[in-house]
Amino acid sequence: MAIFRPEYEALERPALEALQLERLRALVERLRASSAVYGERLRGIPAPRSLEDLAALPMTTKDDLRESYPLGMLAVSSERLARIHASSGTTGNPTITAYTREDLRIFGEVNARSLAAAGIRPGEMFQVAWGYGLFTGGLGMHGGCETLGACAVPASSGNTARQLQLLCDLPVVGIGATPSYALVLAERLRAENRRPKALRYALCGAEAWTREMRAELEALLGVTATNIYGLTEIIGPGVAQECLEKAGLHVQEDHFLAEVVDPESGAPLPEGARGELVLTTLTREAMPVLRYRTRDLTSLVRERCACGRTTARIDWFTGRVDDMLVIRGINVFPSAVEEVLLRFAELSPNYRIVVDRPPNGLDVMLVEVEHQPDAAIDDVDVLAEIVTGRLAETLLVSLHARVLPPGTIERIEAGKAKRVIDRRTL
Ligand SMILES: [Zn+2]
Repeated sequence: MAIFRPEYEALERPALEALQLERLRALVERLRASSAVYGERLRGIPAPRSLEDLAALPMTTKDDLRESYPLGMLAVSSERLARIHASSGTTGNPTITAYTREDLRIFGEVNARSLAAAGIRPGEMFQVAWGYGLFTGGLGMHGGCETLGACAVPASSGNTARQLQLLCDLPVVGIGATPSYALVLAERLRAENRRPKALRYALCGAEAWTREMRAELEALLGVTATNIYGLTEIIGPGVAQECLEKAGLHVQEDHFLAEVVDPESGAPLPEGARGELVLTTLTREAMPVLRYRTRDLTSLVRERCACGRTTARIDWFTGRVDDMLVIRGINVFPSAVEEVLLRFAELSPNYRIVVDRPPNGLDVMLVEVEHQPDAAIDDVDVLAEIVTGRLAETLLVSLHARVLPPGTIERIEAGKAKRVIDRRTL
């Protein structure tokens, strides 16, 4: 399978790590000289002499970015900017990220690598069904298509009828979408008994999902689906991408330095241990970040992948620190619920979790899930009871499951699927 930039993606680890250290040292000196925020925090901290010294450098949080809204984290003069993007903040100000021309070149480069790793080749057509605009997804992947030499179909998010028309009429080989929206497209295709003309690959991301959901989506849409990861604070999509070996997501390590730390203490964890992903942008010019705490929970391995890439791989995310539900004192990740549900062939990937706290004060968790349109089910209540039992024994929490007819749970055409309704905080 094709590696877009083997001179970096398949570089022997000692050389890759030497390059990372050189870039990290340059970054620290650049921030010391040109960033108001980091200049202060780096005072008295010597330049790193090895990658282990990374642990001595200050960390950055989402709050740091919020407090420096809109452009307080800039490390270049604003005349050098070529573009800005922003992530929608659920509360308060959005997080703004800025790019120089060189940053945009890197943005295109890492997304071209992602497309190639996901099976797309130069000259092929790729439908971008992430939103265009301030959100990084659409334009980020669009730049990747151009850098790879593929043909972008800039469908953006929403307008499902138009998306399907493009997929059925044009020789579109791959599509990029949130997993929940890819599922919406797959369901509509099946309901209308239509087939995409040439679709073989899907890149899904910008939303939490599981391998079980992937298997479901691949079967419904008739594609090989891979997981793409990114975040506005770092660059947007293209930070990491799963290859067709499906053995974790390759981090573009010559640009992004990844660590996994204890989410409580912030202490670095050994290779393979699960914790919070922390990322440093090694080459960003306009708005570099040092040791950004992503709140995403994963683990990291550095052994060579069967695809030939030497870059470190992160595992599928267990969830975000912030998404973890605490039900009667027990930690529950929505992804764990999804994993259990999708082991039932009768159930569809359309589900939601409703948490409530009635007057007696004990949390109540309800899992609602649609059954498959063609599932042979004698009694939905009996099935619901079995699902309840399986969820309870896996999650170790008392809950209730309901099995609903197809099409009952609201579909999201743009933005991220809302899987959790926590009425305790409403
Ligand atoms: Zn690989």
